[in-house]
Amino acid sequence: MEEFNYLAPESFDQAVVAKSQHAEKSRVIAGGTDLLLRMRDKVVAPSVLIDLRHTSLDKILISNGVMILGTSASLSQILENSEITQHFPALQTACREFAGPPIRNRATLGGNIVNASPAADLVPPLMAYDASIVLRASGGDRALPLAEFFTGPGQSVIAPDEILMEIQIPLLPASSAATFIKLGQRRSMAISQVNLTARLSMNNSDCVTDARIALGAVAPTPVRAHSAEDALVGEKLSEDLIRMAAKKAREEITPISDVRASLEYRLEMTEVLVRRALIATWKKQRRTKTSG
Ligand SMILES: Cc1cc2nc3c(=O)[nH]c(=O)nc-3n(C[C@H](O)[C@H](O)[C@H](O)COP(=O)(O)OP(=O)(O)OC[C@H]3O[C@@H](n4cnc5c(N)ncnc54)[C@H](O)[C@@H]3O)c2cc1C
Repeated sequence: MEEFNYLAPESFDQAVVAKSQHAEKSRVIAGGTDLLLRMRDKVVAPSVLIDLRHTSLDKILISNGVMILGTSASLSQILENSEITQHFPALQTACREFAGPPIRNRATLGGNIVNASPAADLVPPLMAYDASIVLRASGGDRALPLAEFFTGPGQSVIAPDEILMEIQIPLLPASSAATFIKLGQRRSMAISQVNLTARLSMNNSDCVTDARIALGAVAPTPVRAHSAEDALVGEKLSEDLIRMAAKKAREEITPISDVRASLEYRLEMTEVLVRRALIATWKKQRRTKTSG
């Protein structure tokens, strides 16, 4: 590892000033579970590390119908939060299937996003829940939909002087349900071969009023399967419709072969898993209706 200066600002404002002063020479460090490995492997060599640990960016709260998650919220904090259990359970499923407890205690939501891995597990649920993010620089804040953040593997639109501050998710109507599915080479401690979240809103006659299918590890960035979503909206849900939407999702992705899975396997499993996720989501909807 190269030598670097370590800064631990006492406030977020100070962190933002430090980021603007050191810009591309610097990296923010949150949990360090990605960054320290990349520094050890000399993939990145920042001369300044800006640690967010004293900046109080780990709050999770609801304000004006929006859930606000501070960038430094750890996966363990997300798992323990009862409001997330109530409103965004698919995000918790993704956290539960993520590494083991020691990593979940350190790894942050913001780190998983800014690292911009196409296989990042927390991104498909956030995209399916229509999350947006707020980036702060000394010149001001910039908000954008999470889906517009990623530009390629490890690449995003974040500027060298910006820090991700928070993630915002609008609360959903009770008629909405979602399912996260992760496929890895092992049951735990595995990077995803395919991960996805399907979310459906439906009316009382089983007609789909809104649909999201967000997929990871099957394209250079996490992606939405827009034509599969369009095929569902306005239609009465049925097994045939779900089968057709899953096929469309397969046609929309552009996976590669790598150490974790072949291109063909990813195509095949995307179709299978989108189908499973939509069926599971449909069942959850039915349970909500019967219990309500
Ligand atoms: C053993 C192990 C298992 C893992 N398992 C999984 C898994 O199952 N699923 C998965 O998706 N990932 C997994 N990971 C990857 C990693 O843990 C996650 O991506 C984690 O969420 C990163 O968060 P962090 O806080 O540790 O980020 P860090 O390592 O601190 O930072 C990651 C990147 O984001 C930048 N950054 C962090 N916060 C900010 C911010 N607020 N503003 C601007 N830039 C920021 C950093 O500069 C760095 O470039 C695993 C890693 C390990 C070591």
